[in-house]
Amino acid sequence: MSRRYDWLIVGAGFTGATTAERLARGLGQRVLVIDRRDHPGGNAHDRRDEEGRLFHPYGPHIFHTNSGRIFDYLSGFTDWRPYFHRVRGHVDGRLVPVPFNLDSMRRLFPAAMAERLSARLIDVFGFGARPTIADLMAASDDADLRFLGDYVFDRVFAHYTRKQWGMEAGALDPAVTGRVPVVVSRDDRYFSDRYQAMPRDGYAALFDRMLDHPNIHVSLNTDLAEVEPGRFDRMVYCGALDDYFGRSAGDLPYRSLRFEHQVAPVADGLPVGTVNYPNEFDFTRVTDFRHLTGERAETTRLVTEYPIPHTPGATEAFYPIPSEASRRLADQYRAMARDLEGRVWFAGRLADYRYYNMDQAVGRGLSLVEKALAPAILKAAA
Ligand SMILES: Cc1cc2nc3c(=O)[nH]c(=O)nc-3n(C[C@H](O)[C@H](O)[C@H](O)COP(=O)(O)OP(=O)(O)OC[C@H]3O[C@@H](n4cnc5c(N)ncnc54)[C@H](O)[C@@H]3O)c2cc1C
Repeated sequence: MSRRYDWLIVGAGFTGATTAERLARGLGQRVLVIDRRDHPGGNAHDRRDEEGRLFHPYGPHIFHTNSGRIFDYLSGFTDWRPYFHRVRGHVDGRLVPVPFNLDSMRRLFPAAMAERLSARLIDVFGFGARPTIADLMAASDDADLRFLGDYVFDRVFAHYTRKQWGMEAGALDPAVTGRVPVVVSRDDRYFSDRYQAMPRDGYAALFDRMLDHPNIHVSLNTDLAEVEPGRFDRMVYCGALDDYFGRSAGDLPYRSLRFEHQVAPVADGLPVGTVNYPNEFDFTRVTDFRHLTGERAETTRLVTEYPIPHTPGATEAFYPIPSEASRRLADQYRAMARDLEGRVWFAGRLADYRYYNMDQAVGRGLSLVEKALAPAILKAAA
């Protein structure tokens, strides 16, 4: 007879793996983790190519967080390699730091103009500040700042957004524009988080260690539909919210990506981890894994990302489309999910229908166990 589990966790990405680890190691629960893919790790999965180099099949994943708690938690399963991600944008024929900073201006504008704009930014926002382009464009009484806001919006953001989302910037949630920063310094690190590092042996090794526990059984190549309901008491579902309900209220819209992986016959590839192409081509960015992994070879492994529409069943659902209509539809499904309270919990970037960075997915798993699952276990035992 097949074994019975306290919990079924659907999806072995960061949300599911964290939840499973805390339930098993922290609370002594018996956990079955399934994933329809042939590996754990979700989109953060990495593996070695034929030449033994680590790469990320689902696109470049750079770890960064401001949370000491999340960094410490993951440090239980990996050592780290310090890494500051840097991005250059191909703008008006030059490669300039992105987010746009004081050096980007120097490379693109005549010297006197770059000086004047830099002085104005420092004056208004202070050295080291990160105002958004929305802040600059809102400075209606300052022609210099408005010019800069419009320039960055047009040359760095608008066309990139059109490619990334397949729609005009104006049709997206204003929060998206609201987040694009201009950096008032020469700091060219892409992220500003306190902790920035890559797992020293890669993400797959980190996931193997998280899930390596006698109370955790991992079943790969297994879809939720294949698991007999009698095999578990309760479930944490990290798959797509609309999938769970047979998409009965309609498809939640996503943007997908096509990845073109290639090995270039050169030892020195890109000057930094990622180069963005905001204004030309139908791809958005190219990433050179040597920078992310620290592994050097005679050749260079690159990945180019082509944003494409998402078709359920045919492409991967990567980015929830942030619009009023999609929010309303997700709320409809969330109301259906509430009817399953106490039996099925929904968590993760697909089940919450929210874009999460990896640290947020880990945080979601940690707080789910602490705030909802541990109390539910206690209640059932009382
Ligand atoms: C191109 C790209 C680049 C990214 N770069 C970064 C980055 O640099 N830094 C960063 O912090 N974050 C990055 N992210 C975000 C990161 O991938 C997510 O934060 C993380 O993967 C979320 O983990 P999750 O467990 O919630 O979801 P996922 O990783 O998507 O895991 C969900 C899992 O559920 C499985 N599943 C779904 N339905 C079923 C079912 N019915 N039965 C069985 N299994 C099922 C799926 O196969 C999947 O493995 C990036 C995302 C993308 C798309």
